[in-house]
Amino acid sequence: MDFNFSRVRNHTSVVETKHVKVLILGSGPAGLAAALYAARANLNPVVLTGMELGGQVSLTYTVENYPGFPEGVGGTELVELFQKQAERFGASIVFDTAESVDLSQKPFRINTYNGEYITDSLIISTGATPLHLNIPGETEYIGKGVSYCANCDGWFFKDKDLIVAGGGDSAVEESLFLTRYAKNVTIVHRRDSLRAGAVLQKLAMVNPKINILWNTVLTEIVGPDSVKSVQLLNVLSGEKSKMPVDGVFIFIGHAPNTKLFRGQIELDQQGYIITNKLMQTNIPGVFAAGESADPYFRQVITSAGMGAAAAIQVNLYLNEISSELVDETLVK
Ligand code: NAP
Repeated sequence: MDFNFSRVRNHTSVVETKHVKVLILGSGPAGLAAALYAARANLNPVVLTGMELGGQVSLTYTVENYPGFPEGVGGTELVELFQKQAERFGASIVFDTAESVDLSQKPFRINTYNGEYITDSLIISTGATPLHLNIPGETEYIGKGVSYCANCDGWFFKDKDLIVAGGGDSAVEESLFLTRYAKNVTIVHRRDSLRAGAVLQKLAMVNPKINILWNTVLTEIVGPDSVKSVQLLNVLSGEKSKMPVDGVFIFIGHAPNTKLFRGQIELDQQGYIITNKLMQTNIPGVFAAGESADPYFRQVITSAGMGAAAAIQVNLYLNEISSELVDETLVK
């Protein structure tokens, strides 16, 4: 009974509203770097983590291209370091998720799962989500052999036969990771050459556990209870085949997490937030950083750099609006 009562209170009248100078949505490299810079500018930023502290990088086994870590660093470990550093200067990292935003008036209003924020400035760093193939069996077997995260699920496939869909850096990098566990990893790619960078390609080509099926797409993932096989189609010859497998990992790109802002700020055709070089969106006071605004680079370092830049701009913006307020007061 008590539980129901508190829920009713939460969802009707008693919602705690906090007013902050800077609210940061998302806790990936962009959000946490923004938090560090905003905290060091004494702005006491609040970061709403979203569903996953650290975002996609926390699902990455090893990050080998972030400067300062010559031996590489675990994704989760890197996120923890980002978090500690931001907190050391006064950032608050809150486990909460934005559910709706109102950017039509200032201060901006953000409703979250646990309450409500009003904020003088906003940094959107909500990241991106893996794309789906949208083929029969894909959704049905998520968690039963279909996965979008090698680091999370690779361990479950010791000595198993796996398929990886895609031909970019993610597909190849994650295939290499999966060979730690799997008996065989077959990369299924729709063209006759990989999009992945040269170094990764070379590593895949020489790995005895990796095989590549060229000009081929998956058309169905088949069970019954968990993944047992896939249907394949050679897009050149039209030949169809069935391949027994234990798991299917899908790495075919990402879509930005920007649904919340549709109709409120300018997005491009793919849904990425449009910013200028100063990380400004079309609404003064709203900035964006990281993969929600970046269809090009999508690296930990580029996202972190964008986050830092957004926070520097937030500081300038807040200085500007507070001096405008002082001017108005003097005129009166
Ligand atoms: P990506 O570069 O967009 O590659 C997606 C791959 O999936 C492409 O090979 C594409 O084929 C294929 N694909 C897309 N839609 C498909 C569909 N419906 N059916 C079958 N195949 C499909 O995505 P990503 O690999 O996730 O990489 C994203 C960005 O992150 C890139 O900029 C990448 O460089 C970066 N990244 C870097 C690292 C690193 O530096 N260590 C690691 C991971 C990611 P086509 O080639 O035919 O288009």
